[in-house]
Amino acid sequence: FRSAEIIAVGSELLLGQICNTNAQFLSKQLAELGINVYFHTVVGDNPDRLATAIHTAKKRADLLIFTGGLGPTKDDLTKETISKVLQKNLVMDHEALSNIEAYYQNTNRMMSENNKKQAIVLEGSTVLPNDYGMAPGMALAGRDHTYILLPGPPKELQPMFLNYGREYILSKLGVKEQIVSKVLRFFGIGESQLETDIDDLIEQQANPTIAPLAGDHEVTLRLTAKHHSEVEANRLINETEKLIQSRVGEHFYGYDEDTIFSVLFEKIQHSRYTLSSAESLTGGLFSEKMTAFTGASEVIEGGVVCYTNEIKQNVLGVSAQTLEDHGAVSEECAAEMAGRVKELFNTDIGISFTGVAGPGVMDGKPVGTVFIGLALPNGKTVVHPIRLAGGRDSIRQRTVKYGCHFLLK
Ligand code: ATP
Ligand code: MG
Repeated sequence: FRSAEIIAVGSELLLGQICNTNAQFLSKQLAELGINVYFHTVVGDNPDRLATAIHTAKKRADLLIFTGGLGPTKDDLTKETISKVLQKNLVMDHEALSNIEAYYQNTNRMMSENNKKQAIVLEGSTVLPNDYGMAPGMALAGRDHTYILLPGPPKELQPMFLNYGREYILSKLGVKEQIVSKVLRFFGIGESQLETDIDDLIEQQANPTIAPLAGDHEVTLRLTAKHHSEVEANRLINETEKLIQSRVGEHFYGYDEDTIFSVLFEKIQHSRYTLSSAESLTGGLFSEKMTAFTGASEVIEGGVVCYTNEIKQNVLGVSAQTLEDHGAVSEECAAEMAGRVKELFNTDIGISFTGVAGPGVMDGKPVGTVFIGLALPNGKTVVHPIRLAGGRDSIRQRTVKYGCHFLLK
């Protein structure tokens, strides 16, 4: 295409009641496709003036994109006018009609004759499905011009253009659409909180799209970008990722197939540190997760499952005083467990887990009280207290993930 013109149809636009955001969106999209847009035209719901606009646009552009006026009401006359100007018949599209009928059946509403009008399309056109409404779009290739008709509501127009319109244009240009996607993984933030923090990004972003998914005590965001250049698709994804990271980056741990365990393992391996663990409520779960990787012996020296106070004291060497004064589920005990196991196994890092997995209260501490101790390479020991809701298994599973989360910080 040498150049495109966007023709927005609607008297509301001329009356200043709404802004022509469709033209803005389409212009940005066309720029990305490398197509020059030389004119934006706005015309009211008037067939004569629309016809004039079409004649004018044909002289100065070879891709004409229309928005609005595809609906069921009397003032919606875009396709009727184009049909007259191009001398193309309007025909019933049976697939579009059955989609509309299904829509009415699903929502238990009566369908009027008017609604059938929405399934009428320009003969010979490629129908662009409307996944968020009823009126389908159309793409029609003439000898010298290509016409694309899109509905007015941005919520219908945008996905229609991104999912079908772009592809049509690209096929006319002889290029193939590349789809690139990337998954961002988060821990320590709930799905609703994450969604709230980036709500506006999810709403605004059309390319890439952002799809949140709640998983195993974690949240992921899948970014999917489309572009005819893979490099450019990746650039779009990276740009959006930067925005997301600036909001919720402290909870981010990895990409795609990463797990919080694999990320921690690789980090420790990379820094050539060694690790040992003292596990009470998690009963070896952390060791199990961390020894799942090849090369584990470079990283993991070993661990102690010290479930009872006797083992904490006699095997690990936690002082009787600490257990007596503070109990096993305490910051003091967690700190000693981590420090002792680090010393015992002569590792750079020692990690400890002590807490109440439930179902019963222990030492007066409620279910879900957990202390995670980290004895670090710099000689310092820190303890992270957390409170977890949920059942026994869920508490144990999340506890070891929290351990990784704190070590990654
Ligand atoms: P419908 O089936 O909803 O009637 P339509 O294709 O007939 O859709 P219009 O009737 O022209 O479209 O417009 C419907 C609504 O879409 C408008 O009320 C307005 O909210 C929005 N809209 C229309 N044109 C534009 C535009 N150029 N930019 C932004 N929003 C628009
Ligand atoms: Mg309408």
